[in-house]
Amino acid sequence: MENILNNLPKSSLLYSMNPIGVGTFNIESLTSYVTRLSSAHNITLGVLFTKIIYPFLEKENFPRDGIKANKSSAFNNFHYNSNELVYALTNLTTIKNLENLTLINFNSFLSDYEVRSTKYWCPLCFQDCRNNKSPIYEKLLWSFEVVEVCFEHRCKLVNSCPSCNNIQYHMTRSGRTGHCYICDTYLGLTDCRKYEELPQDYIVWQKWIIENIKELLILNQQERVYNNKKWINYGENIEYIINLIANNYGIKKNDIFKVSNIPRRLYSYWKNGQRKASLYSVLKLGYVTSISLNKFFSHEEYIMGEKIRRLPQYIYQNNLYKNQKKYEINELKEELRRVIIKNEDKNNPPLSLSQITKILGYKKTETLRKKLPHETEIIVNKYKEYINEKNIKMKDDLRSIIIKLMNDGITPSSSNIEEELKKPKFFWKNSHREILSDLLEELGVVKKSK
Ligand SMILES: [Zn+2]
Ligand SMILES: [Zn+2]
Repeated sequence: MENILNNLPKSSLLYSMNPIGVGTFNIESLTSYVTRLSSAHNITLGVLFTKIIYPFLEKENFPRDGIKANKSSAFNNFHYNSNELVYALTNLTTIKNLENLTLINFNSFLSDYEVRSTKYWCPLCFQDCRNNKSPIYEKLLWSFEVVEVCFEHRCKLVNSCPSCNNIQYHMTRSGRTGHCYICDTYLGLTDCRKYEELPQDYIVWQKWIIENIKELLILNQQERVYNNKKWINYGENIEYIINLIANNYGIKKNDIFKVSNIPRRLYSYWKNGQRKASLYSVLKLGYVTSISLNKFFSHEEYIMGEKIRRLPQYIYQNNLYKNQKKYEINELKEELRRVIIKNEDKNNPPLSLSQITKILGYKKTETLRKKLPHETEIIVNKYKEYINEKNIKMKDDLRSIIIKLMNDGITPSSSNIEEELKKPKFFWKNSHREILSDLLEELGVVKKSK
């Protein structure tokens, strides 16, 4: 493969282009930065990755086109990919602190699904850039799952092209910032819903979310690293804070979770380090106690509000959008997230995608798959895993019954097995009959017919 590296002067392999908004909450995302970098060099992102970045990293296996659009959100997270890309770009551009364009230094505090898999933007922010003749860029703030509005322009973020309706990814092979990767339409003219059209409660809640995340984004690298280190033992930290809240208000832990609208059992996952609290949960806890996200994270002295403050009402009702059968993509995602968390509960069988489709009022599982490929895949895999485990257990049970019957000199016919199982219609089901015939063959009771 041709290696462009050899043709470039050694001192500056790529332009030393500064990221936008460093030190402010408007800081650019890494995927936005690298997209603008490719445009500045007049090459596509695909070429930048396959001919420069991957050779620099001495990678041998990478996507043929260089970019997997639906996985590209990982570059803004604290994934291995983002670390590699930061390393490569730091060397190739000589620009420092590119970690700050990602969540790399939040990895011990944040769970790994805070970054949304598709791109959201504020069209009016794009338009502002254009009016000011400054480059169009995407904010790291917008990649947070919980952020749904633009504060400055008092409107909802959007995620699909106004002319072809396609959802947009953080990076695509030949994408450029501010334009649809399929039809190249300028995305600064997308219609967005204004504050006036949104419930007041919802805006109050979004305001809390955004103000808090902004505080995290303005932290410099040292501060991020310092705070992050404190959270290496996640369980201990979270337990400490919850105890503190309980003591401060003289209330039971159960009541903390009740008023924060957080299922109590999640706390046991957090405590034993099985899972980190989602930003959504931390923000709710913070809201009721008036502890800002930054205080939470930096472990400063926790000064709490005098009284527990209740969350905006709609969060308790949990049904802001329930009456509209057609969910908005964010709400839908949140619903699926809830299912994913619930599906981890070992006491209940996980829900299958078709059950969820029905519950949410859709007709076809395909609709959900198309809208949210990542989330539905997690759900499908979990269910498959569950069915496999169930089948293995059932096979074991059947095996012992067959062996027992044979030892007793009884033919292991399906009716005899059903009697032993005390489940009269057990073999009416095709999949059960298949398992039985496999077992009979395995145990040498019958030979497979050719
Ligand atoms: Zn805006
Ligand atoms: Zn388009």
